Amino acid sequence: MHLDLLDILRCPYCGGRLELVTSLFHRAEAGTITDGIIGCQCCVFPVVDGIPVMHLHPASNAARAHIEAGAPELALRAMVGLDDDAQAERFEAAIASPDSTYKAIVEAMGPGFEGGYFLYRFSDPTFVVADAVVRAVAGTVLRGGGRALDICGGSGHLTRALVPLSRPAPVLADLFYPKIWLARRFTAPGALPVCCDGNFALPFARGSFDYAMCSDAFMFIWTKREFVGEMFRAVDGSPHATVLINHTHNQLVWSPSHGNALTPAGYRNLFEIAPARVYGESALFADVVAGEALDLTRTESDETLDTNVALTLIASKVDSVFDRHPLQPARAAAGEWRINPLFDVADTGAQLQATLRFPSSDYEYEYSACREYLPESVSIDAASFRALQAGTAQPALDELIRRKVLIDVPAHYF
Ligand SMILES: [Zn+2]
Repeated sequence: MHLDLLDILRCPYCGGRLELVTSLFHRAEAGTITDGIIGCQCCVFPVVDGIPVMHLHPASNAARAHIEAGAPELALRAMVGLDDDAQAERFEAAIASPDSTYKAIVEAMGPGFEGGYFLYRFSDPTFVVADAVVRAVAGTVLRGGGRALDICGGSGHLTRALVPLSRPAPVLADLFYPKIWLARRFTAPGALPVCCDGNFALPFARGSFDYAMCSDAFMFIWTKREFVGEMFRAVDGSPHATVLINHTHNQLVWSPSHGNALTPAGYRNLFEIAPARVYGESALFADVVAGEALDLTRTESDETLDTNVALTLIASKVDSVFDRHPLQPARAAAGEWRINPLFDVADTGAQLQATLRFPSSDYEYEYSACREYLPESVSIDAASFRALQAGTAQPALDELIRRKVLIDVPAHYF
């Protein structure tokens, strides 16, 4: 971590500033801390492989002891959750190779790491809607500069959209250290990872951000009232202050991985500081499938919201957030263009024949809505695809990009 991060980092317990404890073991140079201990008036926290760990869970305490003992590699093992020596050696070998992919490192983390369906994340229906919402809202709020916070951002699949928009660099916060470690290396390089617990005060100074979001995680937060208050504290004083909660489940409609969901009225009730507009995910999804514009001017009735599986809530001082946002397929990749791994590909020379094949019946059940944009089978002009991969825009492939047959994934993702 760069020392600049200390300007916005605060202890979640006493609110105090932190500084490097130079009397203890540390590796720091040229304004960055790789490993060390940072302290306030009440606590000390470890910095493990450049990531500050701002909570006192057992792994954090173990990592701190390893750093103090001058063994940063054991601190990393503790934070990644590698108890088994053989597994730890596989992980260390995988991360030492610059050619290792995200997929390879997830596999090397072993069965304790919840990898899930990460390979298919960039085309799953939840992601597709959330990504469009983030690009529209953050793109509007941060147009003239400003800093973004992605809290409970996991391995950074959505933070990735914030990296080109946020100045200074966005902060990615999550409790689960291996995910933010992966995000920094692969998914959202350029974002600043901070490990913290969303059920406590956030470890940031008041008003450090202009835009704060939480996507696909809010229903797993127990301290929801405090969490929303903390999001507003993070953006307090910004003329563009925006709080976005994306894809949170609705208590009134069952869904897989339901969490501790509230009703639409229950969520609205949390926004005491500034009212939120509430959107049902169904209508936003229909906008994305239609591919013209994401319509944030809409007002849906309580009856409609009550029937939605998931909801999006937005409170913003920027009126133009609540507008229609044209959806345009990207022609330049932030990472690299690949054929969606949900397709089997047969190479017949001039054409690549892609056929949709789900990894499991569970996936097919949970994400069946992806059939609304993924074709059963399609042929891809091989020369155009190679030219796109080489960096030449191919308007003829826009439709395949829009339908998520061709996806822009981070370099070395799989
Ligand atoms: Zn403190």
